[in-house]
Amino acid sequence: MPDLAEIQRAAQAIAGTAERTPYVISSALSALAGQEIGLKLETRQPIGAFKIRGAANAISRLSPEQARRGVGCCSTGNHGRALAYAAAKNGIRAIVCLSSLVPQNKVRAIAELGAEVHRIGKCQDDAQAEIDRLVADEDITDIPPFDHPDIIAGQGTIGLELLEDRPDLDAIVVPLSGGGLISGIAIAAKAMKPEIKIIGVSMERGAAMQASLAAGHPVEVTELPTLADSLGGGIGLNNRWTFDICRRLVDEIILLSEAEIYRGMQHLARKEGLVVEGAAAVGPAALLASKLKPAGPMAMIISGQNIDQRQFDLIAAGKPVQVGDITVEG
Ligand SMILES: *Cc1c(COP(=O)(O)O)cnc(C)c1O
Repeated sequence: MPDLAEIQRAAQAIAGTAERTPYVISSALSALAGQEIGLKLETRQPIGAFKIRGAANAISRLSPEQARRGVGCCSTGNHGRALAYAAAKNGIRAIVCLSSLVPQNKVRAIAELGAEVHRIGKCQDDAQAEIDRLVADEDITDIPPFDHPDIIAGQGTIGLELLEDRPDLDAIVVPLSGGGLISGIAIAAKAMKPEIKIIGVSMERGAAMQASLAAGHPVEVTELPTLADSLGGGIGLNNRWTFDICRRLVDEIILLSEAEIYRGMQHLARKEGLVVEGAAAVGPAALLASKLKPAGPMAMIISGQNIDQRQFDLIAAGKPVQVGDITVEG
């Protein structure tokens, strides 16, 4: 499992591709919580999400031979975009496999970065089967979105920055899907401050890590449309890294309804002046839903901004939005 030294090495490797992001105090959320609540704005990364950190680190670790043959991934959107960006910056070929659940705005953004896009199947697992075929047929290197030590170490650089900026943090609240983000942050933060609490937040509609931890092993969950589309997908039945790291280092997992996520997004739009996608709003949403009880300074990872413009406009205006077969309103 990656350790603090590896995360520190990743911080060096990604400088110049990923940004050190701002950490800003939210007056509105701090007043509500009675504790200082800070927002780590990964929305300010070049591709609008933290995944540039892991992708840039993984690209930096390729052998010259691997770099020559190219890289690929399957992705709910932001990892594909990050890999496409980091690969292009290094003149490396990238292939990104996406399921039909990935929103069109994200598909377009990946193609515009120069990656080859393969749209395939209805879920992450179908997209993964396509990447497995490409690894076998074309000898490209699969860089998975979360279950890989270099990805975990890259995402962990957020934990380093947070504790350098705020050594007195009591807890970090992290959007949770496959668990690369929370694993890296937990390793870094607990190495620097063992008593810090790491809290994951997922949506009720398909919380794969939470269901897996409850079962004691990785399980499949039905993938459903959700406002937090970047949190969709399973953790992989052959999960090698993030399941064990989460079991050991995550203190609590909170689940949110679609209406609660909607209210988090609306709060960030109206009160904080932030454009965020659903996955990024789950920390504030959990606080607004009274599912978090801060006992000291608390950081929330605002993980990405890549939302469909029309969906954002509707939520900021307080209008209902259609998410697959359901209608969501605050
Ligand atoms: C990928 C992603 C997450 C979840 O990260 P995991 O490492 O899969 O847990 C959260 N928010 C956004 C915006 C993402 O793109």
